[in-house]
Amino acid sequence: MAIDQGRVIALGKKDELAEAYTPRHRLDFGNVFIYPGFIDPHCHFMDYGYLLQEANLYGSGSWGEAVSRLVAHQQRSPQPWVKGRGWDQNLWKMQEFPDKTLLDKAFPHTPVIMRRVDSHAAMVNEKALSLAGIDVNTQVEGGLAVKRDGKLTGLLLDNAISLVSKVIPLPNEYTKRKAIREAEKACFGVGLTSVSNAGTKTEDVELFQRMQAEDAMTIRIYVMMEASGTNLGLFAPQGPIVTDRMSIRSFKLYADGALGSRGAHLLEPYADDPESCGLQTLDPAELRRVCGIAKAHGFQVNVHAIGDAAVRMVLDVYEEFLEPCNDLRWRIEHAQIVQPDDIPRFGRLSVIPSIQTTHATSDMKWVSARLGPARMMRAYPYRALLEQNGWLPNGSDFPIERIEPLRGFCSAVTKKNDEGEPEGGFQPENALTRDEALKAMTIWAARANFEEDSRGSLTPGKWADFTVLDTDLMSASEEALRQSKVIATASAGTLVHQQ
Ligand SMILES: [Zn+2]
Repeated sequence: MAIDQGRVIALGKKDELAEAYTPRHRLDFGNVFIYPGFIDPHCHFMDYGYLLQEANLYGSGSWGEAVSRLVAHQQRSPQPWVKGRGWDQNLWKMQEFPDKTLLDKAFPHTPVIMRRVDSHAAMVNEKALSLAGIDVNTQVEGGLAVKRDGKLTGLLLDNAISLVSKVIPLPNEYTKRKAIREAEKACFGVGLTSVSNAGTKTEDVELFQRMQAEDAMTIRIYVMMEASGTNLGLFAPQGPIVTDRMSIRSFKLYADGALGSRGAHLLEPYADDPESCGLQTLDPAELRRVCGIAKAHGFQVNVHAIGDAAVRMVLDVYEEFLEPCNDLRWRIEHAQIVQPDDIPRFGRLSVIPSIQTTHATSDMKWVSARLGPARMMRAYPYRALLEQNGWLPNGSDFPIERIEPLRGFCSAVTKKNDEGEPEGGFQPENALTRDEALKAMTIWAARANFEEDSRGSLTPGKWADFTVLDTDLMSASEEALRQSKVIATASAGTLVHQQ
């Protein structure tokens, strides 16, 4: 591959290129496999950066260990609020929820919040409780401040956590820049050269712009803006903004919650909660209003919809705006549970299902409890969705999942989790071919962002963004796929990661 000014200019045999060009620099990776730089078409890049700033409590073997990790983290980089994430009492000998005694001893004056691995529970100290105004009489709709012997233990469940999180000061610019730099480094390390930040605040869009202008941010980013009044008012009238490293051309909304916490909006009640169909979190009238603005100014609309009722509601509203054979590429993010009658509507209206194959293999152990056996054929219907438009993007939704795009590839083709389970794969009829799975994280992911003319394949004229692997994704055994390593990553022909 010959590269000039950051772009691919030719591909061919080594000798032929050596004859045709006199390079200033030459890179020889030896016997490796080079792919177009991987693209994550749906992730939470900023959130991941914030997560990297918190104490890592994943895998703590006891409550005591979790607290000492937090103390060590605070000594390394002191913060006015101490944050940690990832503890799980199921890994401890006692398997019981802790109380805040140890935490108050370690942090008598500094507020602390430690989120459990699933974020539905958190431990806080006395200082955090008092700043949040939580006492023994506090009642929270949809949440609980747990008490033992009439005293608060420091354990907060669901909505009670937001009483604390809302008094935590928003990150300042220093913290944000650090989060972005560290998230970028991690992304390059796993072979990603472009990411799509799902749900972006105005000030973050502006920070990305500033950092890219200063050359302090290299990774290419497609921002799905939050459909806030500020974003709609500020960005819609300007029309899409597309630069070498950033695309601002879509609005993101949420039509429902997630399946794990029974927040996904279903057409019929949950099999394991017959009283509930989940949550509709978006008024169709509001979606209609945003769709009107987006269409008038040339923006995509990307709506999170997981349950079949949410998917149907979004399609119903989209149908008012989309003609058959349009090329507006309005997206449904996740599209996890789809009623069979709605599947052809993706093709008819050219709606792009933006899927995450790892969700299927992460959820497989409990999803049939939520849906019951009869509805399982509606879940993760990747093949049928792919056939609608002939292409689809596959992302990770990190940090909900881990950031490695190759996990999405493995999950898509093998339908197995990281441990190679289950034998034969979960819903193997919904597997993608290796060719499709590679396209879904390169050229099809680019297409979902209207970026296929500048990236997604190694073609003369496109950016020389590429990922070097030790493994041939097209022919390696399943085991070798799971073991494959990223050797190097390049953006615009410059190495941004090297093992
Ligand atoms: Zn997401």
